[in-house]
Amino acid sequence: MLGSRMLKLSSEKILALMVIFTLIALFFGKKILRTQIEILPGSSAFSYTLESDQRDGGASSIQWINKQEGSWECELDSTTLQYPFCGMQVYLKGSILEGVDLSNYSAISVDIDYQGPTKHFRVFLRNSNPAYTHIGDPRSTKFNFVELDVRKQESTEDINLSYFRVADWWLLLYENLDIQHTQPEFSNISIIDIQTSSNAPAGKYQFKLNKIVLEGVIIGSESMYLSIIVAWVLLVLLILVNRNIYLNVEIATRKRKEGELKQINLVLDERQKVLEEKINHDPLTGVYNRSGIEDSLSVGYEEWLLHRRPLSILLMDVDHFKDVNDNYGHTFGDNILREFTVLVNDNIRSTDSIARWGGEEFLLVCNNTSPQQAMFIGENLRKLVCDAVFSKGVRCTVSIGVATIVNDEMLESLFNRADLALYVSKKGGRNKCTLSEQNS
Ligand code: GH3
Ligand code: MG
Ligand code: MG
Repeated sequence: MLGSRMLKLSSEKILALMVIFTLIALFFGKKILRTQIEILPGSSAFSYTLESDQRDGGASSIQWINKQEGSWECELDSTTLQYPFCGMQVYLKGSILEGVDLSNYSAISVDIDYQGPTKHFRVFLRNSNPAYTHIGDPRSTKFNFVELDVRKQESTEDINLSYFRVADWWLLLYENLDIQHTQPEFSNISIIDIQTSSNAPAGKYQFKLNKIVLEGVIIGSESMYLSIIVAWVLLVLLILVNRNIYLNVEIATRKRKEGELKQINLVLDERQKVLEEKINHDPLTGVYNRSGIEDSLSVGYEEWLLHRRPLSILLMDVDHFKDVNDNYGHTFGDNILREFTVLVNDNIRSTDSIARWGGEEFLLVCNNTSPQQAMFIGENLRKLVCDAVFSKGVRCTVSIGVATIVNDEMLESLFNRADLALYVSKKGGRNKCTLSEQNS
């Protein structure tokens, strides 16, 4: 129970944490998961080279002014080639094949001091891919580029990578490439190349690299959203499984408790029955006691009031019972009382009820019984007792007073009349059954 409560509690905590985590990820994810690559001149993490159009048979020259400080100069010669160029390459991993995945990077800022006949220079992000890159041929890296205008401070601002496009001359050079390779690609950038502009006129150019910064994110927005969705799905699944376990434990506990309660109820019912039995029955003879016979009396009285079905009672008192006790002892007297009760009980109608009224006195309640019928019953019982032979050959007689309710008579008066009739039986010599005068 405690364990399942803890399970429930922790799942709520996890949910709350997950909501906080989701909000943080949604609002600050991009900032938190930001990453940067900073390229400073002279950094030992990268290698720097210079290259001019002499590679393609041109006559332009290029040289470091101070390699450590990242400054270089070049003299473009336009007499040999239509598109002369010169540039400085930063190898991110030292070779043209190995590069850095910039797919999740969004921008680049290029801080360069530039002097030259035009106000433009180019920045290339050269991508390496086995589909088109071959070792030994630096041109086989894909030339994604932007052309920056130094007057517009583009050289110091963040340039979105989506502004990069693939150089036309490169596409012409690799015209047989599959269409997917003709688009800008940043999955394996091996070289950052700072070059003179596309239509750079002949002349002297000076560059000084201050800093290049690549801005990116550790995981892309799509991956982040996907991760959040997957985390939520897993969490919801976990909570559902958790709830299921919790409910099963709860159901099992309730069932067990229900079973226990049923068991307790059974025991209590049993005890109640025993108690009721004790309250309503005489312990010696097993027949009703005074309180036990009350129901039969009320039913009989009600039937008289509502339907005029006559209620008769018979008060019976064993004659000279004191003598039985005196002669055989009290315990034996008890046995005789039991035998007397069995005898009477076996010879009354199912609708009649008998109670031990006290001592050796008994009450018979006969519902819907006329005085004549009651007298018949009484006489029958008197004779039975008179003829019976009890244990040890003991013989007994019984005196009976019979009364049947009349008009609007109360029960108390009915009992008084039965008592009086019993008294008459005793006075008349005992072993008699007398009907109350008022019923005669
Ligand atoms: P009577 O004919 O006038 O009724 O004479 P009696 O002896 O039956 O009446 P009495 O009132 O003088 O005495 C009643 C006797 O019944 C005395 C008492 O010991 C006995 N008795 C009452 N209750 C019990 C009982 O539970 N067990 C036994 N063994 N005797 C009882
Ligand atoms: Mg008596
Ligand atoms: Mg008696």
